[in-house]
Amino acid sequence: MRIIFATGNKNKVRECHEILSDVADEIISMKEAGLDPEIVEDGKTFEENAMIKAKTVHDLAKDAVVIADDSGLCVDALNGEPGIYSARYLGEDTSYDIKNAKILERLKGVPKEKRTARFVCAMAAVLPDETSFTRTGVMEGYIGDHAEGENGFGYDPIFFVEPQNCSTAVLSPDDKNAISHRGKAMRAMAEELKKRLGKDKK
Ligand code: IMP
Repeated sequence: MRIIFATGNKNKVRECHEILSDVADEIISMKEAGLDPEIVEDGKTFEENAMIKAKTVHDLAKDAVVIADDSGLCVDALNGEPGIYSARYLGEDTSYDIKNAKILERLKGVPKEKRTARFVCAMAAVLPDETSFTRTGVMEGYIGDHAEGENGFGYDPIFFVEPQNCSTAVLSPDDKNAISHRGKAMRAMAEELKKRLGKDKK
């Protein structure tokens, strides 16, 4: 079975490879599959946007399992912002140094117990028989009072987790994957795909 991941992000495809290796013979990005459709992400939730991406690509590759993800950071003290607009917050081309500094500024004076936040990742899958499902993973944490760390990407330097009390940009990639929203959503998706594709090794 061939899985196409509707993403341009090579790191996600690699991570997916490790988690889905016993489900699929081949996991490729949509670019590697020769597909580059325009995807209009106009859903209201992470799940809707992930499903829009998966269905758009599946329409062009009906014999494949197509998976897609949508993720973002939700900050409670900012009414869940930036949420589904995480990539577009302050403009798509604005650097994360600036986006992160803005969030720290907006939370100035907010005490630690009110700085709670979470990374959310929804994964959607569309199968050759047109059935589909989503699985969502969440990583709870809080916004620190400074940015730190060189690993990861995006909002990692300001997103802190317990018990380490460090940002996810300080964690090694393996340590982050073990607890991350994306890791959890991908593992849950792998379980369901194994069941639906009859490859449950249990
Ligand atoms: P997308 O799902 O690839 O479109 O990502 C949405 C946006 O959410 C990214 O551009 C990042 O800003 C943010 N984001 C999602 N997951 C992470 C993460 O693990 N660390 C840091 N930022 C993230």
